[in-house]
Amino acid sequence: MSDHIETQAIHAGEMPPSDAGAGAIVPPLHLTTTFERGIDGDYAYGHRYSRESTPNRLALERSLAALEGGVDALAFASGSVATMTLLQALQPGDHIIAPADFYYGIRQLIKEVFIPWGLQVAFVDMNDLNAVRDALHDNTRLVLLETPSNPLLQVADIAAIADIVHRGGALLAVDNTIATPVLQKPFELGADIIMHATTKYLSGHSDVLGGALIAREETPLFERVKRLQSLGGAVAAPFDCWLALRGVQTLPYRVRAISQNAMTIAQFLDDHPAIERVLYPGLPSHPSYAIAHKQMSQYGGLMSVLVRGAQPEAMRFVANVRLFARATSFGGTHSLIEHRASMETQPTPTPNNLVRLAIGLEQVDDLIADLQQALTGI
Ligand SMILES: *Cc1c(COP(=O)(O)O)cnc(C)c1O
Repeated sequence: MSDHIETQAIHAGEMPPSDAGAGAIVPPLHLTTTFERGIDGDYAYGHRYSRESTPNRLALERSLAALEGGVDALAFASGSVATMTLLQALQPGDHIIAPADFYYGIRQLIKEVFIPWGLQVAFVDMNDLNAVRDALHDNTRLVLLETPSNPLLQVADIAAIADIVHRGGALLAVDNTIATPVLQKPFELGADIIMHATTKYLSGHSDVLGGALIAREETPLFERVKRLQSLGGAVAAPFDCWLALRGVQTLPYRVRAISQNAMTIAQFLDDHPAIERVLYPGLPSHPSYAIAHKQMSQYGGLMSVLVRGAQPEAMRFVANVRLFARATSFGGTHSLIEHRASMETQPTPTPNNLVRLAIGLEQVDDLIADLQQALTGI
């Protein structure tokens, strides 16, 4: 297989020609839950029962492993249950470190499920390397990282954190949902596990929920994750895998075009008098611009702005848009906007005047014209 991501995105998920009779270029959708055994009891095609594996899931997993440069991948029913299963593979009494700024759903999952279950958790500012070092204990098994982070778009130094984590005898898991393997390669920077909400850029069309975990090398922890998924069945369904794999084929081109749109929009908003601050790692004014520039090739489609004023001004900005859709999530073709604090579980550290923008693939001048009119007179 080529090591060019454009070629991998199209070919790494190809299945063995199980329908050789048709010669289809597009992989068939296999909806079967069970697979036939040979007369000697073996499974000629490698599948037994769909909780354990399916052809469409295997194809997606192979594609994701290739894109990230890992040895193995597991496709889940959502991004959240991928991380949930990773945490379930630990033991009560184990310690983890998680970012202070973090996708709120995972933060809630840790607080509502895993802390009561007995996991010890330190929430740490990942930009403060001394704080990360100090938070490592003898029983720290895993450090979670999300960079850029959501919704503050903080950027953490993956290579520096991987070094600290490994010296402390723990593993580093990086959520690469926002950057995607097109812009950032966490395994090359020392990460051990990569998490994805395939719901976002990988699927790319706002029509499928999914998640994945990818391993740089086989570890007992990843084996345990695999076993938990197989025992419980938090798997991506065949059609969801088929859709995700269709989306992945255009990933590099979508992410680059979206990044270019976002950069232009960030510069426009940075100069706008109604905006107090733009949080986008591609702007040289971003506090972690140097790190972002070092570990990312472009800066992605997600940004947040602090609107001058408070919640009412932010809400009016969001109310006025015509082309942007008022909706959560990101990663699809449509540009989306949301007042973030009011959709997160309360209390939240997200500022009340923060509006998150997820840039899509529309023509950039149309997007800017919409933002311009929406900001007028707020
Ligand atoms: C959306 C998202 C998740 C959760 O994914 P779901 O598929 O919605 O469960 C996790 N991490 C990040 C960074 C996300 O954006």
